[in-house]
Amino acid sequence: SGELERHRLHLEDMVASRTAELAAAKQAAETANRAKSAFLANMSHEIRTPMNAIVGMSYLLQRSGATAAQVERLAKIDAAAHHLLALLNDVLELSKIEAGKLELEETDFALESVLEQVSGMISEQVRAKGLVLCLEGVGQPLRLRGDATRLRQALLNYTGNALKFTEAGSIVLRTRIAEERDGQVLLRFEVEDTGIGIPADKQDKLFQAFEQVDASTTRKFGGTGLGLAITQKLAHLMGGDAGVTSEPGRGSTFWFTARLRKSNGTSSVLSRVTQEDLHRYVGARVLLADDNEVNVEVALDLLRGAGLEVDTAKDGEEAVSKASNNAYRLILMDVQMPRMDGLEATRAIRGLSDMGDVPILAMTANAYEDDRRACLAAGMNDFVAKPVDPAALYATLLKWLR
Ligand code: ADP
Repeated sequence: SGELERHRLHLEDMVASRTAELAAAKQAAETANRAKSAFLANMSHEIRTPMNAIVGMSYLLQRSGATAAQVERLAKIDAAAHHLLALLNDVLELSKIEAGKLELEETDFALESVLEQVSGMISEQVRAKGLVLCLEGVGQPLRLRGDATRLRQALLNYTGNALKFTEAGSIVLRTRIAEERDGQVLLRFEVEDTGIGIPADKQDKLFQAFEQVDASTTRKFGGTGLGLAITQKLAHLMGGDAGVTSEPGRGSTFWFTARLRKSNGTSSVLSRVTQEDLHRYVGARVLLADDNEVNVEVALDLLRGAGLEVDTAKDGEEAVSKASNNAYRLILMDVQMPRMDGLEATRAIRGLSDMGDVPILAMTANAYEDDRRACLAAGMNDFVAKPVDPAALYATLLKWLR
């Protein structure tokens, strides 16, 4: 029995040491994953800042008396820059989902308007390729609660592919209610095309990141192979799934399902903002705090273009001191600044007695939800994403000047 006892103790030791090894390995993996997320967030910021300069400067040049040939080249720079940004967004989106960092939004929206937006965004290219686009809706107006942006993104991934891989024929965007109970609907979206189709043995793999039917360097179609992976992950997040049926030479039907709550609320209607609206605020004084000269140049042009009176501050300290001496209608605040960052400056301004409730908008190149939450927690009201999109900037300004 002494032998048995020794054996038992040895086993216990082994279990204990294996458990410790596993815990250490888990810890190491979690640390590595956090490092990866932080790295991507930093990369995103570092890439977006120069992109902001490229997009902003070509916008300014296009408006400053360029010749027709120059305008055409600037448009190409702009298109390439946006392509690069879209890529960056895809990589970030995927890594956010994989890190469990993507949180779906919850807003009321009309299903119809999402479908109309999607068809509106591709209709030009559909026409240009001589294709036909058919919309088959659910046959009733449906108000839902969920993440309309992600839904639109998933649909755009499918319709974009259908467009890319179809030379003749039609694209059908079909929606049906697959299931309905307890105030929830399971929606099934299908995008059917008459394009090149996909061999059976490739169909499953395509939903993995970076997988393409033709991955050769001589392939005809560009792309990263991330769209389907993102779509499937989004479908999973929305309580659904995604898949494809296809026949080479005849076409493909990509589908995904999503579970959404029905809503009684009214859907938020995004008002179309024109510069006319903003002109009601001509002469309003705003403060722009940003340390980056190029950003300041671009933003100044846009803000002054809308008739606003703009003061600038090149770091948080200057922003606080200017905010305490002037009655600004609004403050645009970069987040990363030397000496005092935008978060600290916001907290300081919120503490001032007479400027306590001025709208403060973060101008941020950070893509992560955490960073956005940090801005709100510091007392900011809203965000303007960098690179600054003029229409989005004007819409946000208008919302907070009102
Ligand atoms: P990308 O289009 O950027 O390569 P996706 O993940 O969206 O990335 O698609 C992966 C691959 O799936 C494509 O490269 C293509 O080979 C195939 N594919 C996707 N949609 C279609 C379609 N509608 N018809 C034919 N092939 C498709």
